[in-house]
Amino acid sequence: MGERVLIALGGNAMTSPEGSASPEDQRLAVEQAMAHAAALIRAGHEVMLTHGNGPQVGNILLKNQLAAHVVPPVPLDWCVAQTQGTIGTLMMNALERALAPLPAKVAAVVTRTLVDRDDHAFADPVKPIGQYFPEDDARRFEKLGQTWKRFERGWRRVVASPEPIEILDADAAIALMEAGYTVVASGGGGVPVVRTPDGTLDGVEAVIDKDLAAAVLARAVRATALVIATDVPGAVAGFGTPTARPIGRVGVGELRLLQAAGHFASGSMGPKVEAALRFVGDGGRRAVITSLEHIGAALGETTGATGIIGTILER
Ligand code: ADP
Ligand code: MG
Repeated sequence: MGERVLIALGGNAMTSPEGSASPEDQRLAVEQAMAHAAALIRAGHEVMLTHGNGPQVGNILLKNQLAAHVVPPVPLDWCVAQTQGTIGTLMMNALERALAPLPAKVAAVVTRTLVDRDDHAFADPVKPIGQYFPEDDARRFEKLGQTWKRFERGWRRVVASPEPIEILDADAAIALMEAGYTVVASGGGGVPVVRTPDGTLDGVEAVIDKDLAAAVLARAVRATALVIATDVPGAVAGFGTPTARPIGRVGVGELRLLQAAGHFASGSMGPKVEAALRFVGDGGRRAVITSLEHIGAALGETTGATGIIGTILER
């Protein structure tokens, strides 16, 4: 019996963290990812897809900065919307190709995510985005109203990363899914918007964590499984230490304890673990953190896999 599965794909799986990957590299990476998604669809699962966009937004920001004297830079919510369009298109083409000769119905939905204007993230932006720059450049951008911070490798812009409250276009995604489409939605965590006093929506300068947004989307579309696909085979306790221990099947209580003990780095594995905990804590059946190659095994699709096939959190 097929499940309704939301797969969240890491942006870093599509380019290097520095974002320098060529369009060809990105296309190939998306093709590889979609081959795995196609296998699940062929196995009878109802699949919805979401994706990260960190490196791609970094590339757009760099172009904004380099071309600012010729073309007015666009705000961050526009950058996110642009990446939803490009990555969504790549995913549609790649998934159709991977499903052939089956007739594929694939649609990418431009998706807005509601955030709270009073979210403390706006007062204290901490999410680093884009490339590292020398201090001189950072100071120049600060004069334009941006916040920049010094890191070990140089200066980097930091922006607000508010909590996703609601995936505003989830209903459109559900309607398409129920019409038989494989839907790409909430890319990059969704285009961040706030509700104005008159009830309309406005874009804001922020980025939303794609894993936390995926947990909200997965609940909204009543997915039974949330699969977070990244570049490591699962969450690890004592990551990077001699006592590192991969976490396989785990319960909510145990994972919360490991989280509280600081095993999962903020900004990378941290939000994935938090998203898994939120999804299952909120009534989802199971959440999986794994690499692309192991999705099928982690969902019980293929048998005979040896070793850890992912972090599998069950209710
Ligand atoms: P994505 O682009 O898929 O969101 P991230 O880079 O944000 O990927 O997160 C995955 C990375 O998290 C891994 O490559 C790994 O280096 C890092 N990481 C940090 N802490 C852990 C941990 N405890 N267990 C496993 N990976 C971890
Ligand atoms: Mg990430």
